[in-house]
Amino acid sequence: MRETYDYVIVGAGFSGLVLAERLGATGHRCLVVEKRDHIGGNCHDRRDKNGLLYHVYGPHYFRTNAELVRTYLSRFTAWREVEYRVQAFTRGTYWSFPVNLNTYRQLTRNPHATEDEFKAYLENRKVPITEPANSKEAMLAAVGEELYELFYSGYTAKQWGRPAEALDASVCRRIPIRTGLDDRYFQETFQALPLHGYTPLFENLLTTSRATLRLSTDYREMLPHVNYRHLIYTGPIDEYFDCRHGALPYRTLRFQLEELGAEQAPGGFAQPALQINYPGAEPFTRTVEVKHVTGEVSACTNLMREFPSEYQPGKHEPYYPIPGAESQALALRYRELADREPNVTFVGRLAQYRYLNMDQVVAGALHTFETLIARSSGK
Ligand code: FAD
Ligand code: UDP
Repeated sequence: MRETYDYVIVGAGFSGLVLAERLGATGHRCLVVEKRDHIGGNCHDRRDKNGLLYHVYGPHYFRTNAELVRTYLSRFTAWREVEYRVQAFTRGTYWSFPVNLNTYRQLTRNPHATEDEFKAYLENRKVPITEPANSKEAMLAAVGEELYELFYSGYTAKQWGRPAEALDASVCRRIPIRTGLDDRYFQETFQALPLHGYTPLFENLLTTSRATLRLSTDYREMLPHVNYRHLIYTGPIDEYFDCRHGALPYRTLRFQLEELGAEQAPGGFAQPALQINYPGAEPFTRTVEVKHVTGEVSACTNLMREFPSEYQPGKHEPYYPIPGAESQALALRYRELADREPNVTFVGRLAQYRYLNMDQVVAGALHTFETLIARSSGK
């Protein structure tokens, strides 16, 4: 006998599990199919050999301005409010980053430089580009050549495998630039981590949903064996259509976990901040020591080092859609196919091919739920 569901949901990340929870709460039977052997998608975290938390697929810093998202997720987790602090290591120095007054003081070797002096420097150095067409122009227009070369050019080329000229202005604009002393990496009003990690949050979503979960399963193996009314797809949009218009570009990463004992971590820490960015010639872009924000007390620690690399379908995980002119036209063609696909909803970072943060994905899933319910009740 074939099992019968209202919804089959492909992917157990934020998009898939928020929708499973919402649909389950309104009496719908859902099957969640996940090809990996765990839930949480790229936000998955776990404990290392010393019992310390780490983010398996790179750092996941939750932050949001959306009250709706915060209120919704707060039903499934308590929070630990944190301030995410990052430094950049280049030319043999740890720099205050994102660019702020202390960065300018380091640059000028003048610890007493004032905010007005920094503003005057920026006015003098900014390249007058009124409508920056890409990330290089955006940064030249914001900080000028010197700071662009110091912090953005090398990091961006390494991270994306293409120069900043080939990327939307929005990519480098994710990072704030401040003329005062505020050196927090983000601007959102609520910055916090799930108190016990992301995995318990996802477990709570799943339990509340009462959905059936199949791990380590590609949905294409599963579909012939189940009856369902509607498919919710959160995987890569081009893969759904067998890449019939050609493969979309993605960027992948290799993660290297370093589990460090007391002798390798004097004072319990391995580096001076939560995250160090490397805009220089090193083959990695950043190292993350999440213990700086988890509040864990231990003589041990861990570091996660990220090596960006070229993506090959079937061989790698497609971590980043690439926001740039080259991919936009192709992504649009896939979105047009998706709009015409009956009884399938495409939602999430990969299915929408957009560089979305967690809170945007949660907001998108909550919105999709409303649309699905309105449609099924004929409104
Ligand atoms: P995903 O988490 O990618 O989930 C999709 C799931 O679908 C995956 O588990 C995948 O295995 C599964 N799947 C795909 N194809 C199939 C198939 N054929 N069959 C079955 N299952 C399938 N956001 C922030 O807000 N803050 C951060 O600090 C942050 N840092 C990030 C760092 C990195 C390195 C990356 C890659 C992302 C980061 N993000 C961050 C973004 C965040 O990861 C995403 O917004 C979020 O994970 C998207 O959720 P999702 O459910 O749409 O996709
Ligand atoms: N970036 C940079 N130098 C840095 C940090 C970021 O040039 O030290 C650019 C780079 O192009 C990067 C983008 O800004 O991909 C966004 O940075 P963010 O830290 O938000 O990257 P994510 O966490 O999404 O990987």
